[in-house]
Amino acid sequence: MSLSISQRAARIVQAEIRVMTIECERYGGINLSQGVCDVGVPPPVRRGAQQAMDAGVNSYTRYDGLAELREAIARKMQRDNGIDCDPETDVVVSGGSTGSFYCACLSLLDPGDEVILFEPYYGYHVNTILAVDARCGYVTMKAPDWTFTPADLEAAVTDRTRGIMVNTPANPSGKVYTPEELGWIADFAVRHDLFVFTDEIYEYFLYDGRKHVSPGSLARIADRTITISGYSKTFSITGWRIGYSVCDRRWAEMIGYVNDLVYVCAPAPLQLGVAAGIDELGDEFYRRQCAEFDTKRRRICEALDAAGLTPSVPQGAYYVLADATRLPGATSKQRAMYLLKEGGVAAVPGEAFYHDDSGEDLLRFCYAKPDDELDEACRRIERLALP
Ligand code: PMP
Repeated sequence: MSLSISQRAARIVQAEIRVMTIECERYGGINLSQGVCDVGVPPPVRRGAQQAMDAGVNSYTRYDGLAELREAIARKMQRDNGIDCDPETDVVVSGGSTGSFYCACLSLLDPGDEVILFEPYYGYHVNTILAVDARCGYVTMKAPDWTFTPADLEAAVTDRTRGIMVNTPANPSGKVYTPEELGWIADFAVRHDLFVFTDEIYEYFLYDGRKHVSPGSLARIADRTITISGYSKTFSITGWRIGYSVCDRRWAEMIGYVNDLVYVCAPAPLQLGVAAGIDELGDEFYRRQCAEFDTKRRRICEALDAAGLTPSVPQGAYYVLADATRLPGATSKQRAMYLLKEGGVAAVPGEAFYHDDSGEDLLRFCYAKPDDELDEACRRIERLALP
């Protein structure tokens, strides 16, 4: 047989996160590798979806989502993100923010176009770009605060650069981009005529009084920014697959058509559950959630410090990158496997977040876990007797 998978597919590697989850099950460890937020679905969201299902909202919806959800998203964009958008033309509901980004790339990038990503990056961003035959350029941020300069942006640009990807707050670094940095990115995007893709799935997870700033709220790049987010994390509904893009109607129209082609629509009753959550949950819900994650963040950073796996204290999201040089092994994968086999805790090898070997000394831990599980993982980390 001379059949084979496509050259395009061969460039896409299985997410290291899934690999570690399988290894974790094999060794019976506590899984701090996957960003699954096992903390319960808020009642208004659950009720909204159940009522919708009972009321017969079970068919295909308009390709860009039900009006109730698009309108709720538009209100939320104005309230929380400082972005004015028309729910009729500028909002496309899709199969999670993952689906939103895929549809945006299919709609806006040609084969050979380049998108600049900040490293450490989220692997799905890279693989989605590769899946549409586009390429990645990289700006490597400096630990421990994950900084970069305007000169770093200029060094990454080529004559094929067509976009730049921002993820704030970021997975895996927990970085929250400062207004100054977003200003540099905006100037850069205007100067080189680039799309700005921004993944804001962790927008409600911020610590130490930080505020979320959406790049799309900066007037000079509003019309070239595709704001992508979703409710997987905020409402603990990773399996529901509800995300969205908000952007100028010139881009939203095609993103909607592509969404129709790939997904037809997002799950109908679940769209109404999310709409109910957006409308019914107030500031108190978001504040309490942040406070809970802040407690978990402090707990895991203490444990990592105690074990000599110095953490880069996250500013947002719910991951922490730790210095793994004290764990035996030549690569981050070997270090992660040592931690799993000897310590009983699964983390993601740093190599998953870099295009070269810069991540070999890092491991990523997810602390979006119930307290008892996180406590047990922390005790195991603290018990590690490292040289
Ligand atoms: N973006 C980032 C940065 C993520 O970390 C994740 C989850 N790991 C996603 C998107 C996936 O979001 P969704 O469930 O909305 O597809």
